[in-house]
Amino acid sequence: MNTVRKSAPQLEQLVPYDPKYLPAKIMNSANENPQDVEEQIKREAMSAVRNVKLNRYPDPLANELRDLIAEANGLDRNQVLLGNGGDELLFNLALAYGGPGRKFLNMPPTFSVYQNNAQLTGTEVVNVPRLVDYSIDEQAVLDRVSQGDIDFVIVTSPNNPTGQLAPEDFVLKLLDATDALVMVDEAYFEFSRTTLRPYLMQHQNLVLLRTFSKAFSLAGVRLGYLLGNECVIREFLKVRQPYSVDAVSQAIGKVVFQNRAKFEPGIIQIISERQRMLEELAAIPGVDPYPSDSNYILFKVAQAGQVWQQLFDQGILIRDFSKARYLEGSLRVSVGTPQENDQFLAALRQIVTA
Ligand code: PMP
Repeated sequence: MNTVRKSAPQLEQLVPYDPKYLPAKIMNSANENPQDVEEQIKREAMSAVRNVKLNRYPDPLANELRDLIAEANGLDRNQVLLGNGGDELLFNLALAYGGPGRKFLNMPPTFSVYQNNAQLTGTEVVNVPRLVDYSIDEQAVLDRVSQGDIDFVIVTSPNNPTGQLAPEDFVLKLLDATDALVMVDEAYFEFSRTTLRPYLMQHQNLVLLRTFSKAFSLAGVRLGYLLGNECVIREFLKVRQPYSVDAVSQAIGKVVFQNRAKFEPGIIQIISERQRMLEELAAIPGVDPYPSDSNYILFKVAQAGQVWQQLFDQGILIRDFSKARYLEGSLRVSVGTPQENDQFLAALRQIVTA
């Protein structure tokens, strides 16, 4: 037959997630660490990979890595779960806590993958948009959850793409106001140096998402993890694919995690470059950056789509949100190396003042 029947009805309105992956000289669009894993750690990782038996299935739960992460966070193995990037764990969240007849409270603009996962799983999305400065509409969120019908909430802290932390006192009020599962997405927490980890034991409904993709320079490897209460992790175990975290990633992840202190100078440099970029962006006439606790900066600029194109024509890739809902006229630049940041700032200055 040279025809095929329709796919599932929930796919009809869905557009595949497009990270706008375009090769460029300067890749400052995906909030990666601009420095690759240093040579010595890479060598150690490669020799660990050498010893992986490729003919055998991996440890389904990556228990050795799980134990390392648990120990570093003062938790035990059953309170940690690894995934094929944070992305997989976000999908598993929608599978485990969403579904037909269930509701997800979203605070747009935020990471668009959340909304896609909800649509895929037939979960109703209840949007409580952020205020004009992109802070959370705290009272509106608290009021909405108090109706009692929300099944899960994601609080992104720092928020992507807008950059700022969620206030801790708000998250604590939220955790008290609802028994919905509250995921705090801490993908960028190493750049904000802030975590809700101290509150895990007091709140069964709190779960944290972390990733190796940003501070630990492993976006290419695909490793993310959850910290949560055992009863929540158990629900995630029910929906996960048994071997989603492959043996090669586990081997590399262990070496990198054991060497995590060596990433600290890179993180410090990103934080200081973030401050410099914020100041220099604010000094460009017509460029309006938002404060950032992360490794990227959102800014508004006139003719944003054209500015993006002109930067791209010069080999500088940043992220174009100029046509995205709630983000009209905005671009997001990831903090790169000092040299990359200089080139980006010079190019933007020249484009905007031309
Ligand atoms: N959460 C947020 C807020 C993100 O920006 C990202 C990456 N873009 C992720 C989670 C997932 O990252 P990864 O799948 O690379 O771990």
